[in-house]
Amino acid sequence: MSIDMPFGADVYLAVILFCLGACMGSFITCAADRYVAKESVLHGRSKCPVCGHTLSALELIPIFSWLFLKGRCKNCASPIPVRCFFTELLTGLLYAAVYLKFGFSFVTLEYLLLFSALLAVALIDYDTMEIPDGLTLFGMIVFLLFLYPHSGSVGALTERLKDGVLGALVYGGGTLILSLLMDFALGKETLGGGDVKLFGMLGLFTGLKSGLLMILASCIAGLLFALSVRKGRKKEFPFGPAIAVSAMFTLLVGQEIIELYLELFHLILFQ
Ligand SMILES: [Zn+2]
Repeated sequence: MSIDMPFGADVYLAVILFCLGACMGSFITCAADRYVAKESVLHGRSKCPVCGHTLSALELIPIFSWLFLKGRCKNCASPIPVRCFFTELLTGLLYAAVYLKFGFSFVTLEYLLLFSALLAVALIDYDTMEIPDGLTLFGMIVFLLFLYPHSGSVGALTERLKDGVLGALVYGGGTLILSLLMDFALGKETLGGGDVKLFGMLGLFTGLKSGLLMILASCIAGLLFALSVRKGRKKEFPFGPAIAVSAMFTLLVGQEIIELYLELFHLILFQ
């Protein structure tokens, strides 16, 4: 269920959501950094981590401040990580994409909350190789809170709940069994507990059918990520960013991809 908007209003709202997303991206980067540094996530002003210079309002404008400052602190010229810039840009684009796909609706709000948590998961897992349980729990709460507004009727709610619980059991349970088998075969921890819980939570959102696409996309993204980003580094690579990206991809365009695939399959079989 979404409220129909005239084309101009749609474009206007997409731009507003891009700006909102860019601000949210800035907040997520800052919150993730503070979480990793074991500082209070919500309190305190933003500072340069090197010289402690408190950032002015102008230095806090998402995307643009990084460009104007040419990626360096105004006070001590130490580099500001380029990922701040990219997270802000990516979050802005994601917010606009969610709005353009799901319109002025509760589903949009639901996915904006979920995607924000997933971006934090990706950043924190990249830095610490751990996924905070709080973020996975947050996703589960969002699913339950939006169950009725997303479904729109009691019948649809029951269907969505059934499919979601099945998705959580199959993809959470499936990855748990797989990780135990792989741990046993390789004699070391392969998939972390955080990854398994994250798959379970995301199974709620994807349900049974789209969940398969999420798992497949996660494996491909994980492989590409392991090959490119961690090239030359012997450290283990975190799987969370790949899962987060794949889940967002699945929820945004999964339905279309599955339909296209089935159509192709049908064409090949019955031509
Ligand atoms: Zn500084």
